[in-house]
Amino acid sequence: MSAPPRSSRRQRRVRRRRRASSLAAVALLALALGVGTATATQDQPVAVQLGIPLPLAAVPALLVLHPAPPPAPPAPAAAPVCRAAGPAAVRDHGTRRRRTVALTFDDGPWPSTPAILRILRRAHVHATFFVIGRQVRDRPATVARLRREGHAVGDHTWSHADMAAASAQDAAHELDWTRNAIARRTGARPCLFRAPYGSTNGRVVGAARRRGMVTVGWDVDSRDYTRPGTKQIVRTVLGSVRPGSIVLLHDGGGDRGETIAALPKIIRALRRRHYRFVTVPALLGLPADGQAGRAVQAAAGRNARLGGRTGAGDGEPLAQAELPGSPPASG
Ligand SMILES: [Zn+2]
Repeated sequence: MSAPPRSSRRQRRVRRRRRASSLAAVALLALALGVGTATATQDQPVAVQLGIPLPLAAVPALLVLHPAPPPAPPAPAAAPVCRAAGPAAVRDHGTRRRRTVALTFDDGPWPSTPAILRILRRAHVHATFFVIGRQVRDRPATVARLRREGHAVGDHTWSHADMAAASAQDAAHELDWTRNAIARRTGARPCLFRAPYGSTNGRVVGAARRRGMVTVGWDVDSRDYTRPGTKQIVRTVLGSVRPGSIVLLHDGGGDRGETIAALPKIIRALRRRHYRFVTVPALLGLPADGQAGRAVQAAAGRNARLGGRTGAGDGEPLAQAELPGSPPASG
């Protein structure tokens, strides 16, 4: 065998050099993508926000290198869409320096929810609804309406579970199924979580926080779930509201006739005291959960096209415990 001619050796050298530089380019690209995911913010493209390794459309070269992208990771583990995960503690009120108040309604969507929405719309009040995942599945139109009418929507678990008592895995499913169901119906992932019965601990707050959700409590309990009579509900609320209060009411979980009757009276009385009604995100200075709506929808569509999953989705919960027929003790 004779030595290859000089020209052929030069060609091989050039080829080697080209290969090396394209490898370096790929490495740089990978590095850039990694950094992008780590510093994801709301302003970044959907894919980066969701932590999916996919600015594929923006990087055709990657398509060639990885023609079959890995299925999207379950949404919950991915970068949360909203940046509300600041406080590590339960927030049960806003600033006491402004006469603002947040009305919150738990345990819907429920047959009584539209009546409450009508009252709020007539009074030009925006409120916050902590919804139960499997009811979101059953009443998708009502949930979409909440968002459309300017109310904030929070995660109240899939099955009204006692989160402090649940296993870590069950607690994760309770959060994830619900927020995915909300995202599917409203186009936005919730920034808020409220633990049923107010049953929470550091582990639960941390699990919500990792998903971009602030755990929200209340400082005014209307005790409407005890059905003490309309007058008493009004009296309880008006007797405890202070600037920055978060008021716990219920649109679901049982017969809400008293709450529906009390609501216009509460709104009128608080207005006379010069209170302004705001959503919980507005009260706490959090991003509105609608801000990322389009991003989530786009990602969901893309994942469907790729045959991937947007997350745990509306799968069946592990715990099938029925929502108590009687109203919850609280929360
Ligand atoms: Zn509840």
